[in-house]
Amino acid sequence: MSSSLMKLKGQFENAPVLWDAVENAQINPLMLEKHMYKVKTEIMGSHIDGIKSIISEGIEKGYRYDKVGDKIQRYLGVKGVEISSSDSEKIAVTETHWSINEGRRQSFQKVGIKRMEIDVALTACEICSDMSGETFPVDQTDVCPVHTRCRCALVPVFNFENN
Ligand SMILES: [Zn+2]
Repeated sequence: MSSSLMKLKGQFENAPVLWDAVENAQINPLMLEKHMYKVKTEIMGSHIDGIKSIISEGIEKGYRYDKVGDKIQRYLGVKGVEISSSDSEKIAVTETHWSINEGRRQSFQKVGIKRMEIDVALTACEICSDMSGETFPVDQTDVCPVHTRCRCALVPVFNFENN
């Protein structure tokens, strides 16, 4: 296991159920399309499985985003789809965070958590900062990443008063 994956796993030390979901996170093809602003989705559609496996490999091996982006760019290049380095890195960052957040969301569902909120990243933009404190039902799948390159995280809302 790579050191970055170990570090990530460390965050889930006391919650093996959560870690299990992160490890098994799936890329959602619809979200992948949603985030490919500059890339024509009809062209990308047939390459989603390939991109998904590059993202999964990146998470598993702890690759840097630029490396994952390079792999996506090269993969698409071979298929005759040209995208810029900045677009391919954008896909790498956004989809990696989507995958990790989706793993979190599924794990909240598994343990019966009803609502979640966005833990806004330190470097977050105004869009995300404005969403701080807002809560969402746990079955809502398109909450976070909020936009491309978003690095915010979903966290559970614990309502102790009602439990
Ligand atoms: Zn954000």
